[in-house]
Amino acid sequence: MVIIVESGADEQTVANLIDKVRALGFTPHPIFGVEKTVIAVVGHKTQEKTDILATMPGVQQIIPILKPYKLVGREVKAETSVISVRDDLDIGGDRFVVMAGPCAVESYDQLSQIARYVKQAGAQMLRGGIFKPRTSPHDFQGLREEGIPIAKAVKEETGLPFITEVVDIRDIEMLHEVADIYQVGARNMQNFALLTELGKVDRPVMLKRAMSGTVEDLLQAAEYVAVEGNAQVILCERGIRTFESSTRNTLDISAVIAMKRFSHLPVVVDPSHASGHDWMVPALSKAAVAAGADGLLIETHSRPQEAMVDGHQSLTPASFKQTMEELAAFCEAAGRTL
Ligand code: PEP
Ligand code: MN
Repeated sequence: MVIIVESGADEQTVANLIDKVRALGFTPHPIFGVEKTVIAVVGHKTQEKTDILATMPGVQQIIPILKPYKLVGREVKAETSVISVRDDLDIGGDRFVVMAGPCAVESYDQLSQIARYVKQAGAQMLRGGIFKPRTSPHDFQGLREEGIPIAKAVKEETGLPFITEVVDIRDIEMLHEVADIYQVGARNMQNFALLTELGKVDRPVMLKRAMSGTVEDLLQAAEYVAVEGNAQVILCERGIRTFESSTRNTLDISAVIAMKRFSHLPVVVDPSHASGHDWMVPALSKAAVAAGADGLLIETHSRPQEAMVDGHQSLTPASFKQTMEELAAFCEAAGRTL
């Protein structure tokens, strides 16, 4: 259920309410919105407990949350959450955010070169997998530990915040040194143990939709992170498996609209994994803006033909720059700045 707090209620009244919620055996999740303060109340509810809460000072209304996800739904928070990355970049605000970089961190020279290119072209964030979840165990699994000092050096050089995937609970701590956003990959969307651990970390998490995950599955996965106390979750649509064989996956653009409608969390689109083709990325990026996405995750490589992973879907510096230039007009039309 959600407690709508009276608009004039002072801090003490809200604090008393939160204490009462806890005393009744629930977990309170206060959400301080621009328009109103609400307290999402999670736990097994009874009529008696609901009646007690209803008589508390400061309570305007108590309403049940009908959706299976309680904290990440629009029912508890009408306005989109703005997730702050490193205190200098907002995701979910007016500014459309582009994260770009290679699929995998391969070497210092590779990451440093592409980072400079994407920054010059206007990307606000750098991506790069240090740990790679690969379909085949024989394929390159990422530089792992060796990738950390590389990412650190390139971050210092460029000043760009960095997003990288965490595939295992055991790597959360190591990656904390370089990850400004922890990416949870499609293959791990329902790794509930990993989600729960990330819920205890004070850093944003970007959760990618599983290849066969519904929007509701994704929102419930996001709930696993939020319920532990980390509300800084970003959703990512990266295409789903369908019968279509002309693309690696099918970009489910309607899912972006659904996510935006049902959840207050920001939504990012990954047109690279969604299509598997570099030549589709520019148009899909524009489609993402039109659908109301808050940002993009784009794979780029200085020499895609030599990339260790996903070269065929990586933009060259020149095509990335052109894509950014073309995107600006689409962002403006959608009321966003790039
Ligand atoms: C990636 O972003 O490099 C990646 C592995 O993506 P996904 O989990 O969407 O396949
Ligand atoms: Mn990739």
